[in-house]
Amino acid sequence: MHMKKVVVLGGGESGVGAALLAQAKGFDVFLSDKGKLTDAYRTTLQQATIEFEEEKHTESRILDADEVIKSPGIPGSVPLIKALRAQGTPVISEIEFAARYTDARLIGITGSNGKTTTSLLAYHLLKTAGFNVGLAGNIGDSFAEQVLNQSFDYYVLELSSFQLDDLYDTHLDVRVLLNITPDHLDRYNYDFQQYVDSKFRILQNARPDDTFIYFDGSQPVTDQLARQTYPLRQLPVRLDGDLSGEGGYALNGQSTARTGAHVFTIAQADTPLRGPHNAINMLAAVLVAQAVGADNNAIAEGLRTFQNAAHRLEPVGTVNGVQFINDSKATNVDSVFYALSSMDTPTVWIAGGQDKGNDYSQLDELVGQHVKALICLGVDNQKLVAHFGGRVPVIYETQQITDAVAKGLSLAEPGETVLLSPACASFDLFRNYLDRGDQFRTAVARLADTVVTP
Ligand code: ADP
Repeated sequence: MHMKKVVVLGGGESGVGAALLAQAKGFDVFLSDKGKLTDAYRTTLQQATIEFEEEKHTESRILDADEVIKSPGIPGSVPLIKALRAQGTPVISEIEFAARYTDARLIGITGSNGKTTTSLLAYHLLKTAGFNVGLAGNIGDSFAEQVLNQSFDYYVLELSSFQLDDLYDTHLDVRVLLNITPDHLDRYNYDFQQYVDSKFRILQNARPDDTFIYFDGSQPVTDQLARQTYPLRQLPVRLDGDLSGEGGYALNGQSTARTGAHVFTIAQADTPLRGPHNAINMLAAVLVAQAVGADNNAIAEGLRTFQNAAHRLEPVGTVNGVQFINDSKATNVDSVFYALSSMDTPTVWIAGGQDKGNDYSQLDELVGQHVKALICLGVDNQKLVAHFGGRVPVIYETQQITDAVAKGLSLAEPGETVLLSPACASFDLFRNYLDRGDQFRTAVARLADTVVTP
Protein backbone atom coordinates (compact mmCIF):
# COMPACT_ATOMS: atom_id res chain seq x y z
CA MET A 1 0.00 0.00 0.00
CA HIS A 2 1.25 3.49 -0.82
CA MET A 3 1.88 5.43 2.37
CA LYS A 4 0.99 9.05 1.93
CA LYS A 5 4.20 11.10 1.84
CA VAL A 6 4.23 14.22 3.93
CA VAL A 7 7.14 16.63 3.69
CA VAL A 8 7.56 19.22 6.44
CA LEU A 9 9.49 22.34 5.42
CA GLY A 10 11.12 24.10 8.36
CA GLY A 11 12.24 22.43 11.58
CA GLY A 12 11.16 24.94 14.21
CA GLU A 13 8.47 24.54 16.86
CA SER A 14 5.62 24.14 14.37
CA GLY A 15 7.51 21.96 11.89
CA VAL A 16 8.80 19.50 14.46
CA GLY A 17 5.34 19.29 16.04
CA ALA A 18 3.75 18.67 12.65
CA ALA A 19 6.29 15.95 11.88
CA LEU A 20 5.54 14.19 15.17
CA LEU A 21 1.80 14.31 14.57
CA ALA A 22 2.13 13.17 10.94
CA GLN A 23 4.30 10.25 12.02
CA ALA A 24 1.79 9.27 14.71
CA LYS A 25 -0.98 9.33 12.11
CA GLY A 26 0.91 6.84 9.96
CA PHE A 27 2.34 9.04 7.21
CA ASP A 28 5.71 8.64 5.58
CA VAL A 29 7.34 11.80 6.98
CA PHE A 30 10.42 13.73 5.85
CA LEU A 31 11.45 17.06 7.36
CA SER A 32 13.74 19.46 5.51
CA ASP A 33 15.26 22.68 6.84
CA LYS A 34 17.49 24.98 4.85
CA GLY A 35 19.12 26.19 8.06
CA LYS A 36 20.46 24.37 11.08
CA LEU A 37 18.15 22.73 13.60
CA THR A 38 18.56 23.40 17.29
CA ASP A 39 20.04 20.52 19.27
CA ALA A 40 16.76 20.00 21.08
CA TYR A 41 14.69 19.67 17.89
CA ARG A 42 17.31 17.44 16.25
CA THR A 43 17.21 15.10 19.24
CA THR A 44 13.41 15.04 19.22
CA LEU A 45 13.36 14.00 15.56
CA GLN A 46 16.06 11.37 16.07
CA GLN A 47 14.27 9.88 19.05
CA ALA A 48 11.04 9.70 17.09
CA THR A 49 12.98 8.14 14.16
CA ILE A 50 11.72 10.80 11.79
CA GLU A 51 13.88 11.24 8.71
CA PHE A 52 15.21 14.77 8.23
CA GLU A 53 17.86 16.90 6.55
CA GLU A 54 19.31 20.27 7.51
CA GLU A 55 21.17 23.06 5.74
CA LYS A 56 19.69 21.93 2.44
CA HIS A 57 16.49 21.13 0.56
CA THR A 58 16.61 17.98 -1.57
CA GLU A 59 14.16 19.17 -4.18
CA SER A 60 13.46 15.83 -5.87
CA ARG A 61 12.29 14.38 -2.59
CA ILE A 62 10.24 17.44 -1.66
CA LEU A 63 8.57 17.60 -5.07
CA ASP A 64 7.64 13.94 -4.66
CA ALA A 65 5.46 14.68 -1.60
CA ASP A 66 1.71 14.11 -1.57
CA GLU A 67 1.35 17.04 0.78
CA VAL A 68 3.70 19.69 2.16
CA ILE A 69 3.45 21.37 5.55
CA LYS A 70 5.26 24.68 5.36
CA SER A 71 6.64 26.80 8.17
CA PRO A 72 5.08 30.28 8.26
CA GLY A 73 8.57 31.76 7.91
CA ILE A 74 8.95 30.49 4.33
CA PRO A 75 7.39 32.91 1.81
CA GLY A 76 4.99 31.43 -0.72
CA SER A 77 6.99 33.16 -3.44
CA VAL A 78 10.16 31.06 -3.20
CA PRO A 79 10.73 28.88 -6.29
CA LEU A 80 10.34 25.59 -4.42
CA ILE A 81 6.88 26.49 -3.13
CA LYS A 82 5.85 27.84 -6.50
CA ALA A 83 6.99 24.59 -8.14
CA LEU A 84 4.96 22.55 -5.64
CA ARG A 85 1.85 24.59 -6.25
CA ALA A 86 2.37 24.50 -10.03
CA GLN A 87 2.34 20.70 -10.00
CA GLY A 88 -0.74 20.66 -7.77
CA THR A 89 0.84 19.53 -4.49
CA PRO A 90 -1.13 20.93 -1.54
CA VAL A 91 0.99 23.24 0.64
CA ILE A 92 -0.57 23.88 4.05
CA SER A 93 0.33 25.19 7.48
CA GLU A 94 0.87 23.20 10.64
CA ILE A 95 -2.38 24.70 11.96
CA GLU A 96 -4.34 23.37 8.95
CA PHE A 97 -2.76 19.94 9.31
CA ALA A 98 -3.31 19.62 13.06
CA ALA A 99 -6.87 20.95 12.94
CA ARG A 100 -7.87 17.81 11.01
CA TYR A 101 -7.10 15.71 14.06
CA THR A 102 -8.98 17.51 16.80
CA ASP A 103 -12.66 18.07 17.57
CA ALA A 104 -11.78 20.94 19.90
CA ARG A 105 -13.47 24.26 19.30
CA LEU A 106 -11.01 26.72 17.85
CA ILE A 107 -10.68 30.40 18.66
CA GLY A 108 -8.49 32.25 16.14
CA ILE A 109 -7.01 35.65 16.97
CA THR A 110 -5.27 37.89 14.46
CA GLY A 111 -4.41 41.55 13.85
CA SER A 112 -1.32 43.58 13.05
CA ASN A 113 -0.89 44.46 16.74
CA GLY A 114 -2.22 43.01 19.98
CA LYS A 115 -2.40 39.34 18.99
CA THR A 116 -0.23 38.01 21.80
CA THR A 117 -1.84 40.11 24.53
CA THR A 118 -5.37 39.21 23.43
CA SER A 119 -4.57 35.53 22.96
CA LEU A 120 -2.91 35.26 26.37
CA LEU A 121 -5.80 37.06 28.00
CA ALA A 122 -8.54 35.04 26.27
CA TYR A 123 -6.69 31.87 27.26
CA HIS A 124 -6.35 33.07 30.85
CA LEU A 125 -10.04 34.00 31.10
CA LEU A 126 -11.14 30.60 29.79
CA LYS A 127 -8.76 28.77 32.09
CA THR A 128 -9.97 30.83 35.06
CA ALA A 129 -13.53 29.92 34.11
CA GLY A 130 -12.59 26.24 34.30
CA PHE A 131 -12.50 25.40 30.60
CA ASN A 132 -10.11 22.72 29.37
CA VAL A 133 -8.21 24.99 27.00
CA GLY A 134 -4.87 25.07 25.17
CA LEU A 135 -2.91 27.96 23.68
CA ALA A 136 -1.05 27.62 20.38
CA GLY A 137 -0.31 29.11 16.97
CA ASN A 138 2.17 31.95 16.87
CA ILE A 139 2.85 31.46 20.56
CA GLY A 140 4.05 28.74 22.91
CA ASP A 141 4.08 25.03 22.13
CA SER A 142 3.22 23.65 18.72
CA PHE A 143 -0.48 23.14 18.03
CA ALA A 144 0.21 19.81 16.31
CA GLU A 145 2.12 18.46 19.28
CA GLN A 146 -0.66 19.48 21.66
CA VAL A 147 -3.24 17.84 19.41
CA LEU A 148 -1.10 14.71 19.60
CA ASN A 149 -0.46 14.67 23.34
CA GLN A 150 -3.29 16.61 25.00
CA SER A 151 -7.04 16.45 24.90
CA PHE A 152 -8.18 20.05 25.13
CA ASP A 153 -11.79 20.98 24.39
CA TYR A 154 -10.81 24.48 23.23
CA TYR A 155 -7.77 26.09 21.71
CA VAL A 156 -6.91 29.76 21.56
CA LEU A 157 -4.80 30.15 18.40
CA GLU A 158 -2.74 33.27 17.85
CA LEU A 159 -2.59 33.55 14.06
CA SER A 160 -0.15 35.67 12.07
CA SER A 161 -0.99 36.56 8.49
CA PHE A 162 1.65 34.05 7.38
CA GLN A 163 -0.21 31.29 9.19
CA LEU A 164 -3.55 32.44 7.79
CA ASP A 165 -2.11 32.30 4.27
CA ASP A 166 -1.79 28.52 4.48
CA LEU A 167 -5.20 27.83 6.06
CA TYR A 168 -7.89 26.46 3.76
CA ASP A 169 -10.50 24.19 5.37
CA THR A 170 -9.86 24.86 9.06
CA HIS A 171 -13.02 25.94 10.82
CA LEU A 172 -12.80 28.51 13.60
CA ASP A 173 -15.74 28.82 15.98
CA VAL A 174 -14.67 32.22 17.25
CA ARG A 175 -12.67 34.66 15.13
CA VAL A 176 -11.00 37.87 16.30
CA LEU A 177 -9.54 40.60 14.06
CA LEU A 178 -7.99 43.36 16.15
CA ASN A 179 -6.76 45.81 13.54
CA ILE A 180 -4.89 46.08 10.26
CA THR A 181 -1.99 48.49 9.77
CA PRO A 182 0.70 48.18 7.09
CA ASP A 183 3.17 45.47 8.08
CA HIS A 184 5.16 42.71 6.38
CA LEU A 185 4.36 44.24 3.02
CA ASP A 186 7.51 42.68 1.56
CA ARG A 187 5.60 39.36 1.69
CA TYR A 188 2.57 40.83 -0.09
CA ASN A 189 4.08 42.38 -3.22
CA TYR A 190 3.99 45.75 -1.44
CA ASP A 191 0.24 45.67 -2.00
CA PHE A 192 -1.69 46.60 1.15
CA GLN A 193 -4.91 45.01 -0.15
CA GLN A 194 -3.15 41.64 -0.41
CA TYR A 195 -2.21 41.95 3.26
CA VAL A 196 -5.83 42.89 4.12
CA ASP A 197 -7.04 39.86 2.17
CA SER A 198 -4.63 37.69 4.10
CA LYS A 199 -5.98 38.97 7.44
CA PHE A 200 -9.54 38.41 6.24
CA ARG A 201 -8.82 34.73 5.79
CA ILE A 202 -9.71 34.70 9.50
CA LEU A 203 -13.32 34.76 8.15
CA GLN A 204 -12.97 31.77 5.81
CA ASN A 205 -15.53 28.97 6.10
CA ALA A 206 -17.88 31.10 8.19
CA ARG A 207 -21.03 29.51 9.56
CA PRO A 208 -24.00 31.36 11.04
CA ASP A 209 -23.27 30.06 14.55
CA ASP A 210 -19.70 31.37 14.54
CA THR A 211 -18.73 34.55 16.28
CA PHE A 212 -16.62 37.34 14.78
CA ILE A 213 -15.13 39.97 17.09
CA TYR A 214 -13.40 42.98 15.54
CA PHE A 215 -12.26 46.50 16.38
CA ASP A 216 -14.59 48.94 14.72
CA GLY A 217 -12.00 51.75 14.75
CA SER A 218 -9.60 50.16 12.27
CA GLN A 219 -10.50 51.54 8.89
CA PRO A 220 -9.04 48.81 6.67
CA VAL A 221 -11.18 46.38 8.69
CA THR A 222 -14.42 48.34 8.46
CA ASP A 223 -13.86 49.18 4.76
CA GLN A 224 -13.53 45.51 3.91
CA LEU A 225 -16.58 44.61 6.03
CA ALA A 226 -18.58 47.22 4.13
CA ARG A 227 -17.48 45.74 0.81
CA GLN A 228 -18.44 42.17 1.51
CA THR A 229 -21.06 40.27 3.52
CA TYR A 230 -19.85 37.68 6.00
CA PRO A 231 -22.57 35.35 7.27
CA LEU A 232 -21.83 35.01 10.97
CA ARG A 233 -22.57 36.73 14.27
CA GLN A 234 -20.57 39.96 14.45
CA LEU A 235 -19.49 41.69 17.66
CA PRO A 236 -17.78 45.06 17.20
CA VAL A 237 -15.50 46.63 19.80
CA ARG A 238 -15.68 50.42 20.05
CA LEU A 239 -13.71 52.97 22.01
CA ASP A 240 -16.00 55.90 21.47
CA GLY A 241 -19.39 56.21 23.03
CA ASP A 242 -22.42 54.06 23.13
CA LEU A 243 -23.00 50.68 21.59
CA SER A 244 -26.65 49.85 21.27
CA GLY A 245 -26.32 46.28 20.01
CA GLU A 246 -24.07 43.42 20.97
CA GLY A 247 -20.34 43.95 21.32
CA GLY A 248 -17.87 45.74 23.52
CA TYR A 249 -17.28 49.38 24.26
CA ALA A 250 -15.08 51.47 26.50
CA LEU A 251 -16.17 54.81 27.84
CA ASN A 252 -14.75 56.94 30.67
CA GLY A 253 -12.54 54.13 31.92
CA GLN A 254 -15.42 51.63 32.05
CA SER A 255 -15.37 48.65 29.71
CA THR A 256 -18.61 46.84 28.92
CA ALA A 257 -19.15 43.69 26.88
CA ARG A 258 -22.64 42.58 25.89
CA THR A 259 -23.74 39.38 24.18
CA GLY A 260 -27.47 38.65 24.39
CA ALA A 261 -28.56 39.00 28.00
CA HIS A 262 -24.99 38.63 29.20
CA VAL A 263 -23.59 42.00 30.25
CA PHE A 264 -20.18 42.41 31.86
CA THR A 265 -18.71 45.71 33.07
CA ILE A 266 -15.37 46.49 34.68
CA ALA A 267 -13.30 49.60 35.37
CA GLN A 268 -10.07 49.28 33.42
CA ALA A 269 -8.25 50.61 36.49
CA ASP A 270 -9.25 47.37 38.26
CA THR A 271 -7.22 45.36 35.75
CA PRO A 272 -3.46 45.27 35.14
CA LEU A 273 -4.02 46.45 31.55
CA ARG A 274 -3.16 50.05 30.75
CA GLY A 275 -3.97 52.19 27.75
CA PRO A 276 -6.66 52.41 25.07
CA HIS A 277 -5.09 49.66 22.97
CA ASN A 278 -5.45 47.34 25.93
CA ALA A 279 -9.10 48.36 26.36
CA ILE A 280 -9.61 46.95 22.86
CA ASN A 281 -7.63 43.79 23.59
CA MET A 282 -9.46 43.31 26.88
CA LEU A 283 -12.92 43.74 25.36
CA ALA A 284 -12.06 41.36 22.54
CA ALA A 285 -10.90 38.73 25.04
CA VAL A 286 -13.97 39.22 27.25
CA LEU A 287 -16.24 38.78 24.23
CA VAL A 288 -14.39 35.56 23.41
CA ALA A 289 -15.02 34.37 26.97
CA GLN A 290 -18.70 35.31 26.73
CA ALA A 291 -19.05 33.60 23.35
CA VAL A 292 -17.71 30.40 24.86
CA GLY A 293 -19.90 30.71 27.96
CA ALA A 294 -17.69 31.96 30.81
CA ASP A 295 -19.60 33.62 33.65
CA ASN A 296 -19.05 37.15 34.95
CA ASN A 297 -17.33 36.15 38.18
CA ALA A 298 -14.72 34.12 36.33
CA ILE A 299 -14.15 36.90 33.80
CA ALA A 300 -13.69 39.50 36.54
CA GLU A 301 -11.34 37.21 38.45
CA GLY A 302 -9.37 36.43 35.28
CA LEU A 303 -8.98 40.11 34.46
CA ARG A 304 -7.70 40.88 37.93
CA THR A 305 -5.14 38.07 37.92
CA PHE A 306 -3.87 38.41 34.35
CA GLN A 307 -0.15 38.82 33.77
CA ASN A 308 0.78 39.98 30.30
CA ALA A 309 3.83 38.73 28.45
CA ALA A 310 7.05 40.51 29.35
CA HIS A 311 8.32 43.61 27.52
CA ARG A 312 4.84 45.04 26.86
CA LEU A 313 4.30 47.90 29.29
CA GLU A 314 5.74 45.58 31.90
CA PRO A 315 6.24 47.15 35.35
CA VAL A 316 9.74 46.05 36.40
CA GLY A 317 10.16 47.78 39.72
CA THR A 318 9.88 50.92 41.80
CA VAL A 319 12.96 52.73 43.11
CA ASN A 320 12.54 55.66 45.50
CA GLY A 321 8.90 55.90 44.46
CA VAL A 322 9.76 56.05 40.75
CA GLN A 323 8.09 53.38 38.68
CA PHE A 324 10.08 51.74 35.83
CA ILE A 325 8.17 50.31 32.88
CA ASN A 326 9.67 48.06 30.20
CA ASP A 327 7.98 48.42 26.81
CA SER A 328 10.92 47.12 24.78
CA LYS A 329 8.50 45.40 22.36
CA ALA A 330 7.47 48.87 21.16
CA THR A 331 9.74 48.88 18.11
CA ASN A 332 7.72 51.35 16.06
CA VAL A 333 6.15 54.78 16.53
CA ASP A 334 2.61 53.41 16.61
CA SER A 335 3.40 51.24 19.65
CA VAL A 336 4.93 54.21 21.46
CA PHE A 337 1.79 56.19 20.72
CA TYR A 338 -0.17 53.66 22.76
CA ALA A 339 2.46 53.48 25.48
CA LEU A 340 2.46 57.24 25.99
CA SER A 341 -1.36 57.25 25.93
CA SER A 342 -1.20 54.83 28.83
CA MET A 343 0.90 57.07 31.09
CA ASP A 344 -0.93 58.68 33.98
CA THR A 345 2.07 60.41 35.62
CA PRO A 346 4.82 62.71 34.33
CA THR A 347 7.19 60.47 32.43
CA VAL A 348 10.88 60.21 31.67
CA TRP A 349 10.88 58.52 28.28
CA ILE A 350 13.80 56.36 27.14
CA ALA A 351 13.72 55.93 23.36
CA GLY A 352 16.00 55.18 20.45
CA GLY A 353 17.96 52.45 18.76
CA GLN A 354 17.98 51.78 15.04
CA ASP A 355 15.65 54.20 13.33
CA LYS A 356 13.23 52.67 10.81
CA GLY A 357 12.42 55.84 8.93
CA ASN A 358 10.34 57.03 11.90
CA ASP A 359 8.07 60.04 11.69
CA TYR A 360 7.85 61.26 15.27
CA SER A 361 5.39 64.07 14.64
CA GLN A 362 2.37 61.88 15.47
CA LEU A 363 3.75 61.72 19.04
CA ASP A 364 4.08 65.47 19.55
CA GLU A 365 0.82 66.01 21.39
CA LEU A 366 1.28 63.04 23.73
CA VAL A 367 4.90 63.94 24.37
CA GLY A 368 3.77 67.45 25.26
CA GLN A 369 1.23 66.03 27.72
CA HIS A 370 3.32 63.36 29.42
CA VAL A 371 7.06 63.61 28.81
CA LYS A 372 9.21 65.73 31.11
CA ALA A 373 12.54 64.39 29.86
CA LEU A 374 13.77 62.29 26.96
CA ILE A 375 16.73 59.93 27.20
CA CYS A 376 18.03 58.93 23.79
CA LEU A 377 19.66 55.50 23.77
CA GLY A 378 21.19 54.24 20.57
CA VAL A 379 22.81 54.72 17.24
CA ASP A 380 20.22 57.11 15.82
CA ASN A 381 19.96 59.57 18.71
CA GLN A 382 20.40 62.55 16.39
CA LYS A 383 17.06 61.93 14.76
CA LEU A 384 15.30 62.06 18.14
CA VAL A 385 17.25 65.12 19.24
CA ALA A 386 16.48 66.90 15.98
CA HIS A 387 12.75 66.28 16.33
CA PHE A 388 12.22 66.73 20.06
CA GLY A 389 14.77 69.47 20.77
CA GLY A 390 12.75 72.47 21.90
CA ARG A 391 9.67 70.32 22.52
CA VAL A 392 10.94 68.37 25.55
CA PRO A 393 12.49 70.38 28.42
CA VAL A 394 15.38 67.96 29.06
CA ILE A 395 17.13 65.74 26.52
CA TYR A 396 20.00 63.44 27.44
CA GLU A 397 21.99 61.17 25.15
CA THR A 398 23.73 57.91 26.00
CA GLN A 399 24.80 54.58 24.53
CA GLN A 400 24.47 52.57 27.73
CA ILE A 401 21.30 51.21 29.22
CA THR A 402 22.66 51.29 32.79
CA ASP A 403 23.40 54.97 32.33
CA ALA A 404 19.95 55.56 30.85
CA VAL A 405 18.29 53.90 33.83
CA ALA A 406 20.38 55.81 36.40
CA LYS A 407 19.73 59.09 34.60
CA GLY A 408 16.04 58.24 34.46
CA LEU A 409 15.96 57.84 38.21
CA SER A 410 17.74 61.15 38.78
CA LEU A 411 15.32 63.01 36.47
CA ALA A 412 12.10 61.55 37.89
CA GLU A 413 10.39 62.58 41.13
CA PRO A 414 8.72 60.07 43.45
CA GLY A 415 5.34 59.13 41.95
CA GLU A 416 6.62 59.60 38.40
CA THR A 417 7.48 57.02 35.75
CA VAL A 418 10.52 56.02 33.71
CA LEU A 419 9.31 54.37 30.51
CA LEU A 420 11.50 52.42 28.07
CA SER A 421 9.49 52.53 24.84
CA PRO A 422 12.08 52.77 22.08
CA ALA A 423 10.15 53.22 18.78
CA CYS A 424 13.24 51.71 17.19
CA ALA A 425 14.86 48.37 16.49
CA SER A 426 17.28 47.09 19.12
CA PHE A 427 20.06 45.62 17.00
CA ASP A 428 22.50 48.51 17.48
CA LEU A 429 23.18 47.82 21.17
CA PHE A 430 21.32 44.56 21.86
CA ARG A 431 20.71 41.09 20.43
CA ASN A 432 16.98 41.78 20.05
CA TYR A 433 14.09 43.46 21.86
CA LEU A 434 14.02 40.71 24.48
CA ASP A 435 17.66 41.30 25.34
CA ARG A 436 17.03 45.05 25.51
CA GLY A 437 14.10 44.57 27.89
CA ASP A 438 16.00 42.05 30.01
CA GLN A 439 18.98 44.39 30.35
CA PHE A 440 16.62 47.19 31.33
CA ARG A 441 15.01 45.00 33.99
CA THR A 442 18.43 43.97 35.32
CA ALA A 443 19.65 47.57 35.43
CA VAL A 444 16.56 48.59 37.41
CA ALA A 445 17.07 45.72 39.85
CA ARG A 446 20.73 46.70 40.37
CA LEU A 447 19.74 50.28 40.93
CA ALA A 448 17.18 49.21 43.51
CA ASP A 449 19.96 47.34 45.35
CA THR A 450 22.41 50.22 45.32
CA VAL A 451 20.16 53.18 45.96
CA VAL A 452 19.91 54.18 49.60
CA THR A 453 16.37 55.16 50.38
CA PRO A 454 16.38 58.71 51.73
P1 ADP B 1 1.49 41.17 18.53
O1 ADP B 1 1.51 39.79 19.09
O2 ADP B 1 0.39 41.35 17.50
O3 ADP B 1 2.81 41.70 18.09
P2 ADP B 1 1.42 42.23 21.26
O4 ADP B 1 0.24 41.89 22.07
O5 ADP B 1 2.68 41.49 21.49
O6 ADP B 1 1.01 42.16 19.72
O7 ADP B 1 1.69 43.80 21.39
C1 ADP B 1 2.81 44.38 20.75
C2 ADP B 1 2.77 45.90 20.86
O8 ADP B 1 1.71 46.39 20.02
C3 ADP B 1 2.42 46.39 22.25
O9 ADP B 1 3.58 46.67 23.00
C4 ADP B 1 1.64 47.65 22.00
O10 ADP B 1 2.51 48.74 21.90
C5 ADP B 1 1.00 47.43 20.64
N1 ADP B 1 -0.43 47.02 20.72
C6 ADP B 1 -0.95 46.05 21.50
N2 ADP B 1 -2.28 45.92 21.31
C7 ADP B 1 -2.61 46.82 20.37
C8 ADP B 1 -3.84 47.19 19.73
N3 ADP B 1 -5.01 46.59 20.02
N4 ADP B 1 -3.80 48.20 18.81
C9 ADP B 1 -2.64 48.80 18.51
N5 ADP B 1 -1.46 48.51 19.08
C10 ADP B 1 -1.43 47.55 20.00
